[in-house]
Amino acid sequence: MKAKLKIFSIPSVLICLLLWIPALTLAQEGDVVETDTHRFVEVAEGVWFVTGSGAVFTMSNAMVLVGEFDTLVVDSHVTPAASRALLDSIPAVTDKPVRYLVNSHYHFDHAHGNQSFPEDVEIIGHEFTRAKLSGEIGNVLEETTFKSFSDPVPATVANLQRQAASETDPRRKAELERAHAVQEDYMNAIQEVVPTPPNITLQEKMTLFQVVADGSREIQLLHFGRAHTGGDVVIYLPQEKVAFTGDMMLPGLAYMGDGHVDEWPVSLEGLKALDFDAWLPGHGPIMRSKQPIENFQAYLRDLWDKTAVMHSRGADWEQASREIDMSNHADNYAQIRGPGIDPRAIRRIYQLLDER
Ligand SMILES: [Zn+2]
Repeated sequence: MKAKLKIFSIPSVLICLLLWIPALTLAQEGDVVETDTHRFVEVAEGVWFVTGSGAVFTMSNAMVLVGEFDTLVVDSHVTPAASRALLDSIPAVTDKPVRYLVNSHYHFDHAHGNQSFPEDVEIIGHEFTRAKLSGEIGNVLEETTFKSFSDPVPATVANLQRQAASETDPRRKAELERAHAVQEDYMNAIQEVVPTPPNITLQEKMTLFQVVADGSREIQLLHFGRAHTGGDVVIYLPQEKVAFTGDMMLPGLAYMGDGHVDEWPVSLEGLKALDFDAWLPGHGPIMRSKQPIENFQAYLRDLWDKTAVMHSRGADWEQASREIDMSNHADNYAQIRGPGIDPRAIRRIYQLLDER
């Protein structure tokens, strides 16, 4: 018996070492973990930037903060099905239970997965986010923002089906069939949405301290004023020098249909003043430079001024959206190819100008 124990004790040490090596590797910055539906990139120890892999339509990015005892998730994707896929994927990076969900803002593509989180998960967001998702201010399922993106989905599904059916190249046909299946699932998943508001709210600032191996991680939730919506929250990690910006700041042009284009550049000053090395947008890749913030501020100020001129001349918003030319910003935004602005943005700016 004694000899047997001795023999077995050596391999068990080896097994422990073998288990330790991948665990240590996982903690290195820049680690990537992929599941069937998601891709996790470790930006700093225990700080994961999460994107959809395309197998499920997620529409937006998320962030997962892993502590010693619990996990905090930022944003819940576009449908309950997408957030279930996220929750199913999180065990690939941690076995710590999800305790908090933070909404960067109320928009459907970041918050319509809220309902998938277990009852005991606290949902934190700006008080405006709660007002919108609770139905205190309007019905998010009936508003232009949700409908203008969601109403065309059945047509997209039909289109992809038609294209897949007529495609003769086998590789391209398989891609189209896959895209069709993903969009069809998304179309059905929308039906399941029950807007679910945060149960903990903030106005300007809230700080959480998450227990981590060597102390605590400071997690600042910061509202710098109205911008992309009336309640944008930046999730800022001062020790790791990381900021999750939601849609308040994107690599490209953000949707402006609910925006406060006049106040947005001022609110971005708050973001710009933070000390960070990386910013994680609600859509698009990890960003490092602060220059895009200044570029976007310049765009917003210019768009506001140009729209105000059209408004004062008595042009209607449809004409203004056709004629306003932002080509002077084309170096920063590849999608600008001459006059023409998203009409939802111009209609919104007209609304704000009319209210003045
Ligand atoms: Zn948004």
